[in-house]
Amino acid sequence: MSKNIAIIGAGISGMSTAYLLKDKGYNITIYAKAFSPNITSNKAAAFWFPYHIRNDKRGIEWCNISYNFYKSFTAIPEAGISMQHLIKVLRENVEDKEPVWIDFMPAGSLRVMEQTELQPGVARGYDITVPLIETQIFLPYLQQQLKHSGVTFIEKDVDDLNEFANGFDIVVNCSALGSRKLCNDEALIPVRGQVALLSPKESMNLYIDNEKPMYVVPRKDAIIVGGTYEERVETDTTEPQTIERLLKNAYEIFPELKQQEVIGNWAGLRPYRPEVRLEREKGTNIIHNYGHGGSGFTLSFGCAETVKNLVEEISKENS
Ligand SMILES: Cc1cc2nc3c(=O)[nH]c(=O)nc-3n(C[C@H](O)[C@H](O)[C@H](O)COP(=O)(O)OP(=O)(O)OC[C@H]3O[C@@H](n4cnc5c(N)ncnc54)[C@H](O)[C@@H]3O)c2cc1C
Repeated sequence: MSKNIAIIGAGISGMSTAYLLKDKGYNITIYAKAFSPNITSNKAAAFWFPYHIRNDKRGIEWCNISYNFYKSFTAIPEAGISMQHLIKVLRENVEDKEPVWIDFMPAGSLRVMEQTELQPGVARGYDITVPLIETQIFLPYLQQQLKHSGVTFIEKDVDDLNEFANGFDIVVNCSALGSRKLCNDEALIPVRGQVALLSPKESMNLYIDNEKPMYVVPRKDAIIVGGTYEERVETDTTEPQTIERLLKNAYEIFPELKQQEVIGNWAGLRPYRPEVRLEREKGTNIIHNYGHGGSGFTLSFGCAETVKNLVEEISKENS
């Protein structure tokens, strides 16, 4: 008999997990208290780049697997994913743990820029080819694909993961910050990110600068100008003075952006944990997959692959 799997959480972690399990003959139900667009995953910029994971070597494989998944989605125009150039600059006298993030770059994705290509004050520059995920397109697309494959979505505020013990063979916990309560996990904290939105503009590269720090992400719906890093802030609201500062930083480097209309702003709470929790809880059939911080998209399909292997292990034990 096919196994019943409950996935808690309908963000990128829960949905990428369901996506990799959907054709394996399981009955899958996703339970979540909120769905796209009312979740953190919709607030991501969202480009592929390792952040918050650089000290965890497991992340290299997870990032690489995700990179290749997103690359394969570029063949499907309605998925809203494209490969783009990301220009990452390191300012003189600003420390950056360069070798660490370079280890995460897939083969052939990175070019060290020539000195002649760099602006004054920039010590080094990298031109990296990365997937850009239009969250406003990709998340509804993923949800539709899952529904078409027979995955059921149920709105529910879950109080206790053990409530699925009857009726489900395996539970996968992808509840991000919800795990603070569900698992009493004090290592998990919110890190607020505020961003400003400018009207969209064609032919612009993605850009990250380690000085402010500042990033500019040109998407179809907006140019996202970010972003703040505010540990333990619990409210996902923006502050006018912060949004002004983000824009001022961006205008200093790209004066042409002043021509774009300011069309809004938003804030989201990154589910940060010193290490992603991806493991089977001892003595149970519960698998945890949460705490992806500022890299939820970058890690998603790679982590989902590890979850799939754990699910298959449990299935074999119980068959
Ligand atoms: C401003 C900003 C920019 C970012 N940019 C990037 C980027 O460029 N690249 C990148 O890779 N990442 C980026 N991120 C990080 C990324 O958004 C997150 O890591 C990712 O969205 C986490 O996904 P998730 O599915 O784990 O969590 P979420 O999207 O938060 O989903 C959690 C799900 O669990 C559900 N849930 C929680 N508790 C319960 C409960 N008790 N019962 C039922 N359901 C529950 C929620 O309703 C939701 O459905 C950014 C984040 C922010 C804020």
